[in-house]
Amino acid sequence: MPIQTKGYANPDATSPFATHSFQRRDPGPSDVSIAIEFCGICHSDIHTARSEWGEAFYPCVPGHEIVGTVTAIGQEVIGFKEGQRVGVGCMVDSCRQCKTCKEGDEQHCERGQTCWTYNTQITKPQPGEDSYTKGGYADHIVVDEKFVLRIPENLDPAAAAPLLCAGVTTFSPLNHLAVKPGDKVGVLGLGGLGHMAVKLAASMGAEVTVLSRSPHKKEDAQSLGAKSFCLTTSASECEGLAGTLDCIIDTVSAPHDLDQAASFLKKDGTLVLVGASDKPLEFNAFSMIAGRKKIMGSLIGGIPETQKMLDHCGKHGIVSEIEVITPSQINEAYERMLKSDVKYRFVIDCSKM
Ligand SMILES: [Zn+2]
Ligand SMILES: [Zn+2]
Repeated sequence: MPIQTKGYANPDATSPFATHSFQRRDPGPSDVSIAIEFCGICHSDIHTARSEWGEAFYPCVPGHEIVGTVTAIGQEVIGFKEGQRVGVGCMVDSCRQCKTCKEGDEQHCERGQTCWTYNTQITKPQPGEDSYTKGGYADHIVVDEKFVLRIPENLDPAAAAPLLCAGVTTFSPLNHLAVKPGDKVGVLGLGGLGHMAVKLAASMGAEVTVLSRSPHKKEDAQSLGAKSFCLTTSASECEGLAGTLDCIIDTVSAPHDLDQAASFLKKDGTLVLVGASDKPLEFNAFSMIAGRKKIMGSLIGGIPETQKMLDHCGKHGIVSEIEVITPSQINEAYERMLKSDVKYRFVIDCSKM
């Protein structure tokens, strides 16, 4: 039977979120049915809901930082059991056949068949299902077990929710660059992504420096685990940092000074872009040529890497800094996020749908 679901959606790009009832598909043999407890709010949710990344499907139910408990499993499910705490991130399916999917990088599916958790057209909808995906601003979701993650039991479920996007987005490049104890890691921008980058890099033994234009972020940077802080508007502080960092996790999502960021890197250092600016970024070629420096992009992480990140967070007791809200506060939360007035992630209590 399709599952009657209560959620929050906006009916078009400019209207506020309001309650929205819909159906999830009739769970199949490999599906896990999940009662959603918490869902984080990511900036991608705002861009999508407001059609800033192309025309969205409406009503739009965003949300891809989902934590809940298993209410039922299909007969072929082997990895999960009823009552278990689980997570769902940015993806709910992919082609599963191409080389990239088989390598566990489903977010880069070569056939372009990554099925995102919300706002993706479904080619063959199942009984009860809409023709496009709906995310975690809801009380229930049905997901194939291949795209369901295990949440370590020692982590607070609300604070663990943002690990599913903000966590893996910053963990993945640190993992790919094999960051190790003693490495010097810069984190540019201290918001939802940046604060996770600081915690994760510090947990890997790196010496973390937060790079920010806001002097009032200094205290937070240190309490999150950063060893130092560089005010990027101060010439003397920047001079002291020149040529010292192995890599920088750049979380800024607006045009900014890449030449300055590159100047902080050692020879062979890497500037990792995880913040998606909607306008083109500019930099001087010599900033990269001198010192053989690299610019690298990174998009969330695959399912195996997301599980690796969650297990790492369980081992080190790492969660996000959050403010829990009720579903009726989503509109207010969006306005506050656009003013950077959140420390550091809003999480919706989905039991109150
Ligand atoms: Zn996200
Ligand atoms: Zn694929």
